[in-house]
Amino acid sequence: MIINNIADQVASPEAIRAAKLSARYENWAAADILRDAIEHEFIGSIALSSSFGADSAVMLHLVSQINSDLPVIFLDTDRHFFQTLQYRDQLAKILGLTNLINLKADKAEEQDFDPKGNLWKLAPDACCALRKVRPLNRITDDYTAWITGRKRHQAATRANMPIVEWDGRNFKVNPLANWTADDIADYIETHALPAHPLVEQGYPSIGCFTCTKPVEVGEDARAGRWAGQDKTECGIHKPIFGGDGI
Ligand code: SF4
Repeated sequence: MIINNIADQVASPEAIRAAKLSARYENWAAADILRDAIEHEFIGSIALSSSFGADSAVMLHLVSQINSDLPVIFLDTDRHFFQTLQYRDQLAKILGLTNLINLKADKAEEQDFDPKGNLWKLAPDACCALRKVRPLNRITDDYTAWITGRKRHQAATRANMPIVEWDGRNFKVNPLANWTADDIADYIETHALPAHPLVEQGYPSIGCFTCTKPVEVGEDARAGRWAGQDKTECGIHKPIFGGDGI
């Protein structure tokens, strides 16, 4: 199934490169994939985008063991829980991350598109575009490849996700694609990584405070994100980080 997906992508030299890398990395450990991507394949032109959410400590720790100067991009929407901002600073300090980049919405665009600060309620896709997709688009060409923490088990749409993707503009490297929820929990315990403080309050997936609720026992982990709406993703993992609603 994964091979079919890869074959579907083959249309350009970059897609062929992504397919070959995916095949080579498929049975590698996440740390080995990361090391090869950072120190060999995309040297000097690869960054990690992190939400500093419930699972983020794993990828941040793995990266810190290889290159603590690697750019770590945080999309600062000005609507994060204060616990997330504290957790971001705590993890950066503990892991010795020296290149944390806080990306915010353009002030003029914010004034134009969300003068009253209620776009999240009126048009959440446009709000995510303003505060996440467009800021990321401004720097996406600065890097050839982006590391993500996405996992195949998280959603049906991610079930066949290759280890390396070509989205038409950047490579995306998904070293944790094969990891299960138990793998994540084991890694956090083994390395004594601090948990996001909201996890124990019923938030297994954490975004902006305006759009995230705790979930009930037995509910899907992402059920608290944009609860009651059709929206399930912020849009940064769409091809070319695009399709914004502004
Ligand atoms: S998650 Fe909500 S508040 Fe945050 S950027 Fe998206 S719509 Fe806006």
